[in-house]
Amino acid sequence: TVEVRGLRKRFGDRTVLSGLDVDIAAGEFVALLGRSGSGKSTLLRVLAGLDAAVEGEVTVRGTVSVAFQQPRLLPWRRVWRNVVLGLHTGGRHRGNDRALADRALAEVRLEELGDAWPRTLSGGEAQRLSLARALVREPELLLLDEPFGALDALTRIAMHELVVDLWQRHRPSVLLVTHDVDEALLLADRVLILDRGAIAAEHVLTRPRPRRAADHAEVRTRVLN
Ligand code: ATP
Ligand code: MG
Repeated sequence: TVEVRGLRKRFGDRTVLSGLDVDIAAGEFVALLGRSGSGKSTLLRVLAGLDAAVEGEVTVRGTVSVAFQQPRLLPWRRVWRNVVLGLHTGGRHRGNDRALADRALAEVRLEELGDAWPRTLSGGEAQRLSLARALVREPELLLLDEPFGALDALTRIAMHELVVDLWQRHRPSVLLVTHDVDEALLLADRVLILDRGAIAAEHVLTRPRPRRAADHAEVRTRVLN
């Protein structure tokens, strides 16, 4: 689904991505770890087609959806209208959009809140809404930028289960950016570690879960070094 060769991204004099090669196969779940400022969100933006000013080759096949670090919701649109913004931008909606929105909301267990206003949602609900908006397009590639960062531990566990469940049923390729080593090990088939704009390490995880302590120790060491 994704083939990146020699991807280089500069902001002025600063090189933020310095010649990356990244492949993601169809249906593969990849986690991207790395320190703050290492270029994770920049890579996601490039893969999402939001930033084309790069050097190198970037091939992404199929429909792509992104859920950003901060859910970007339109406060003057009800929850279900925010979901169908994932289908077509420009504001107008179509006849069966409500049904599509309701189905996506049910996927993230927000079926009760279609008519609510975004400002009334809790943080976890807002993140689930952002996930519903990404899912409504039935993406082949789902880009998730720290979607669980601001959640309490229990909600985060519920979100992990939800994402694994969605992934198993729909089988998109997933690239999940996270700071959380445990989360990466729990969810992904493969962990990439980005350091100052380069892939510093890659770790393929053995399934089935639960994860092995050895994987954990090794990835943690690589992240910290
Ligand atoms: P975090 O974990 O904090 O979200 P990140 O790995 O996602 O970090 P990026 O957002 O990709 O990091 O940013 C990588 C670097 O590029 C940072 O140093 C950032 O300041 C810089 N950067 C990102 N966007 C721009 C921009 N539009 N103009 C200038 N510099 C930018
Ligand atoms: Mg980021």
